[in-house]
Amino acid sequence: MVSEFKITVFEGDGIGPEIMAPTLKILEHLQNTHSAYSLIFSTAAAGAAHYVKTKESLPESSLSLARSSDAILLSAMGLPDVRYDDGTEISPQIDLRKEFNLYAGVRPVVVRDGKSCPLIRPNGETIDFVLIRESTEGLFHTQGKGEVTETEAKETLLITRQVSEKLFDFAFNYATQRKAAGVGKGHVTCVDKANVFRAFAFFRKIFYERAKNFPDIDARHAYVDATALWMVQQPWNFDVLVTENMFGDILSDLGAGILGGLGLAPSADIGDDHAVFQPCHGSAPDIAGKGIANPFAMILSASMMLDWLGHRHNHRQMILDAALLKEAVNAVLTDGNSITADIGGNATTTTAANAVLQQLTVQ
Ligand code: ATP
Repeated sequence: MVSEFKITVFEGDGIGPEIMAPTLKILEHLQNTHSAYSLIFSTAAAGAAHYVKTKESLPESSLSLARSSDAILLSAMGLPDVRYDDGTEISPQIDLRKEFNLYAGVRPVVVRDGKSCPLIRPNGETIDFVLIRESTEGLFHTQGKGEVTETEAKETLLITRQVSEKLFDFAFNYATQRKAAGVGKGHVTCVDKANVFRAFAFFRKIFYERAKNFPDIDARHAYVDATALWMVQQPWNFDVLVTENMFGDILSDLGAGILGGLGLAPSADIGDDHAVFQPCHGSAPDIAGKGIANPFAMILSASMMLDWLGHRHNHRQMILDAALLKEAVNAVLTDGNSITADIGGNATTTTAANAVLQQLTVQ
């Protein structure tokens, strides 16, 4: 029997619909190739443009569609000129993280031979690490509720045992899975500032408590400032990094820089029961409507969705298709003839996405 999976699709704002359409076409091609699974896509309204029309950024109907689905695929939401009355930006993607307790933000950074990278790799080292960013608390705890007076401003950092334990278990399981697949080095590094803040000493203590349940994985720690330095000087030594929300927010953009740009950086936000897959970049309003947006971060996020669904439901073809899709994007990048302007080419979104489709048909 063909396994069916319900996918809620948020097309979002700006370049969102432009990168989502070819991604869905690619997913349809993959599922039709072996007919071993079926993805049923339902589009849900949300975002800044929707807010302008309705005064709602994430309607309850969209939320309940997402809640009842097996996975959520999201492009990008928000527009700089569209804001709530308090001046903050419309960001339903952050609301979804909180609503569904998506505590583990997974940001892979992979640079293999043949791919350009702004860093000098003395011996052509492969960079292949994953940053796991806690995504529901930390310094984002008081987001939208910070106290500001004429003389001072306060935001509160929150680290809870409950979320930290889940986060660290997720990171150790992820490292175990990478090691078994032959891509990981078998270590997890807790990135913190435990030398200065009690909250981070608490975070690190829980990390080492949970590490005891994973004797095959080497547990390490590093300060966030030193980690930023090493991400530039020797990122090939990392495997899995796990960190607090704000540190992860900043380090993941550094990771996107190592990849060669936001247009190549995919992500997943994962909880116990739900997961959202979306590119790290925003809605890029400056290039929206021009047909030149890079679709690769969106396509790679779709690959992460297939992989997550495949492991969750023990579905081998989905795991294989996730890997095929990643390799197809890599092949197009290595070839370099069908890449968009942000990474040095002149291809349109459609040409770049069609090149991936073409690779899938010859693989
Ligand atoms: P957010 O705060 O929502 O993350 P942002 O304001 O940081 O968004 P982005 O929308 O990510 O910014 O855009 C930052 C820059 O990167 C812009 O110049 C944009 O055109 C470019 N950019 C982002 N995504 C892409 C893409 N997929 N293809 C090409 N350029 C992109």
